[in-house]
Amino acid sequence: MQDFLMTGADCMEAIRKTAGILAQNRDYITGLDAATGDGDHWINMNMGYEKLLEQQQTLAALDPPEFFKKAAMVMMSAIGGSSGVLYGTAFLRAAGALGLEQGIDSRGLCSLLRALCEGIMERGRSKPGDKTMVDAMHPAVNVFEQGLAHGTPTVELLHLVREAAGQGAKDTRALPAVRGRAYYQADRGVGHVDPGAITMAYLIDSLTQTAQECMK
Ligand code: ADP
Ligand code: MG
Repeated sequence: MQDFLMTGADCMEAIRKTAGILAQNRDYITGLDAATGDGDHWINMNMGYEKLLEQQQTLAALDPPEFFKKAAMVMMSAIGGSSGVLYGTAFLRAAGALGLEQGIDSRGLCSLLRALCEGIMERGRSKPGDKTMVDAMHPAVNVFEQGLAHGTPTVELLHLVREAAGQGAKDTRALPAVRGRAYYQADRGVGHVDPGAITMAYLIDSLTQTAQECMK
């Protein structure tokens, strides 16, 4: 099966793409967090990605596991809100999941996303359906694993993973919050999409787009 291989430079490219999408959606994300939380989610995430961009030359030269280790430190120290700790923990778990292999192929990317998801669920004591960023990741990981097991062609698989993340994020609209600030809203945020799920879907979108560009 045709596969891809991502280096640290490609991981940096995915971060650049995510930062770009995020920059274009400032008002949208701020509005979502104003409705369900305290309105700072865009500022938090943007700060994190800006700091990653400031270090892009150093980061791009690292192997993927080292890339995620360093990115974890940057995110944790740059972001004030809960998402900083969650992303930091998740990126560290991703670094551990990647091992020492040279680059990230489809199995590697699937393990990486699984580790991100598990890191956030453990650190946040959250599970799918709690109306958090997990709701973008969990369906994406499931689709990825099933597709790999069934031998789905890589381009199609990456597309399905991207779609699952986006749909999972949108589906948070109907869910009542169990974790995070949205829990303290009178309606538990029902009727509003979770901002963290949307920004996580941006990251998954960018990782899968970049992976596709790295097809051998
Ligand atoms: P804060 O909630 O501290 O203001 P942010 O606004 O940056 O931090 O992040 C809010 C997002 O973080 C939420 O939209 C949600 O997706 C995510 N989140 C909050 N708490 C948790 C948790 N316990 N587990 C997983 N994700 C969480
Ligand atoms: Mg907030």
